[in-house]
Amino acid sequence: QISERLKRIAAHLSSATFFADIGSDHAYLPLYVCRLDTRARAIAGELNEGPFLSAKQNVERADLTNRIQVRRGNGLTVIQPSDEVKEVVIAGMGGSLIAQILDEGKQRLTGVSRMILQPNVDARSVRQWLYDYSFEIVQEEIVKEAGHIYEILIADHKETPIATLDEKDLLIGPFLKNSSSDVFKEKWTIEKEKRENALHQMIKASEVDKERVSTFKREIAIIEEVLNNEG
Ligand code: SAM
Repeated sequence: QISERLKRIAAHLSSATFFADIGSDHAYLPLYVCRLDTRARAIAGELNEGPFLSAKQNVERADLTNRIQVRRGNGLTVIQPSDEVKEVVIAGMGGSLIAQILDEGKQRLTGVSRMILQPNVDARSVRQWLYDYSFEIVQEEIVKEAGHIYEILIADHKETPIATLDEKDLLIGPFLKNSSSDVFKEKWTIEKEKRENALHQMIKASEVDKERVSTFKREIAIIEEVLNNEG
């Protein structure tokens, strides 16, 4: 019943984890993790009433209320310092929303050692935020399911300075940039076409914003480079 995407996210949680799933919707991820690992515990955070009630009901039906707490609230506000949450998952939202949630709640991340983030679009914003706040990306995955391609970023908090990220790392990913998988090539072929089309449209409409043109051109060059990765 659970999606391959959520399974891949779960694979990066520690055993006996205590994690917060922010924007948990039906609480599928906490339910899956806590059924598999009898020592795992979770907080399922949800902003909206419908999904919050659905999460609560699913957790009650699964008889897991002792290990999964469903809390209603905005972003990381559902985490209290006394919880001592070790890992945070934010999945299935846009990258800029994920970065905003992290930014607004950054004081709640004290003691969090790992985050697993799955932006539907704009992973760049997430990578930039992680870098700015000393979470080092330690692994990345790309998965395709039901016609959609998803990126999963795994980042660990570091006390020491973390590896810098250049343009290619931010756009493509410090690990994914070396990928040559079919899914990776499919994603970046589409992304390249999007930028080429946007450039053509701008030129046709004589709306040439020099800064945007040079950003697109730079990104297209980076994308062409990674599309030439050999397997
Ligand atoms: N995380 C699940 C997944 O990956 O399958 C559900 C993704 S669903 C598309 C996004 C969920 O995030 C929705 O249930 C929505 O109500 C919730 N959400 C959106 N903004 C939120 C916020 N600021 N704080 C908490 N939940 C939020």
